[in-house]
Amino acid sequence: MATKVKVTDLHKSYGDNEVLKGINLEVQENEVVVMIGPSGSGKSTFLRTLNKLEEPTAGSIAIDGIDLTAKETNLNKVRENIGMVFQHFNLFPHLTVLENVTLAPVELGKLTKDEANELGRQLLAQVGLADKADAKPTQLSGGQKQRVAIARALAMKPSIMLFDEPTSALDPEMVGEVLKVMRDLAEDGMTMIVVTHEMGFAKQVADRVVFFADGYIREEGTPDAVFNNPQDPRAQDFLNKVL
Ligand code: ADP
Ligand code: MG
Repeated sequence: MATKVKVTDLHKSYGDNEVLKGINLEVQENEVVVMIGPSGSGKSTFLRTLNKLEEPTAGSIAIDGIDLTAKETNLNKVRENIGMVFQHFNLFPHLTVLENVTLAPVELGKLTKDEANELGRQLLAQVGLADKADAKPTQLSGGQKQRVAIARALAMKPSIMLFDEPTSALDPEMVGEVLKVMRDLAEDGMTMIVVTHEMGFAKQVADRVVFFADGYIREEGTPDAVFNNPQDPRAQDFLNKVL
């Protein structure tokens, strides 16, 4: 199986605040890794350093075998292969749903307008929003907006998807529809790293659960091992609070 992500001794500081203190993580093709951990433990910082939205202080990151920390690496090319979905959907309000989905691949010359429209409609159908292609984001619910954001990320045909608390800003009744789209993606074989507090999703979908605390990975294993038999005291404490 191919290694999609290889992170070696990754450090990240903001001034004298060291947020990541030596993270080592490998993610294999088709693997779904769920990251959990207390607020402020560095989960978002980790995801952002993965596509160099943040500059690492030390350590190395390779995606699909390409070293992101090497000077000669074309970051924009690597980033095209990394789909990212955030808590807040960041859709363009003046564009239609379909235009939001097709914008990047057309602008970056990956697809013609016609190809992008065809793929865009296909992706909107995949996330259950075939009938919303011509709507504006303001006409959508939060759950629908997040599904558009997922379709938009998929339109770049990424080889890996990163999700940073994709359901945290949603009303509870909309969480399920977004998790379902993510579960379908996982079943289709997408390689995914998901930061979430949805422990049910982690149990059902994750191949591996990684627990972050204080800038370190404190525990990792199968959902069963991490949830039912955590070894690290911080993980035990965290899970007692959230399960
Ligand atoms: P999590 O996603 O696990 O809640 P974050 O990665 O958002 O944690 O934050 C980890 C730490 O890094 C926090 O102490 C936060 O204040 C700090 N931090 C995050 N982003 C920045 C930034 N852009 N500048 C300075 N400090 C930051
Ligand atoms: Mg965060």
